[in-house]
Amino acid sequence: MTSNLINLIAQNKIDFNSGCKAILNDSNFDFQLVFTELRNYIFNALPDKANYNSETYQKALNTIPLKPTYTPLVILKSFSTQIAFNKLQKLPKSEHEKIIISLLWVFKQTDTERRLTVCKNGCNHAWHNIE
Ligand SMILES: [Zn+2]
Repeated sequence: MTSNLINLIAQNKIDFNSGCKAILNDSNFDFQLVFTELRNYIFNALPDKANYNSETYQKALNTIPLKPTYTPLVILKSFSTQIAFNKLQKLPKSEHEKIIISLLWVFKQTDTERRLTVCKNGCNHAWHNIE
C-alpha cells in the first residue's frame, strides 16, 4: 500500500505535500518499514552503484523543501550516500517526519530522472507501470 503511494508521489500522480501527509498520518505508519522501502527505491533509482552519488542525487538534496539546517538534511549533505542513510535510520523519533519528507523528495527527483532517461522507451519496472 505504502509502496504504491510512494510511487504515485514520485510520478506526480499525487500532490507531493498531500502524499507526504497521507504516509505520515497513516495509523499504521511504521518508520523503519517506510524508511527501508524508500532507501531501496532510491538506491535502485541512482545510476552509479559504486557510490550512489550523481548529479541528480546532489540536486535533489539541495532542493529538499525543508530548512537546510535540519539534522537529516545536514547529514545527507555531509556524508556519502550509504553512510548518510545509516545515520538517518538511527535518528530519534522527533526527526522521523523530516527524514521521510526528505527521502520522498529525493526519490521523486531521482526516479523522475530515471523515467525520463533509461526508462523512456518503456521498462519492466512494475512500479513504473502503476495506474
Ligand atoms: Zn522503469
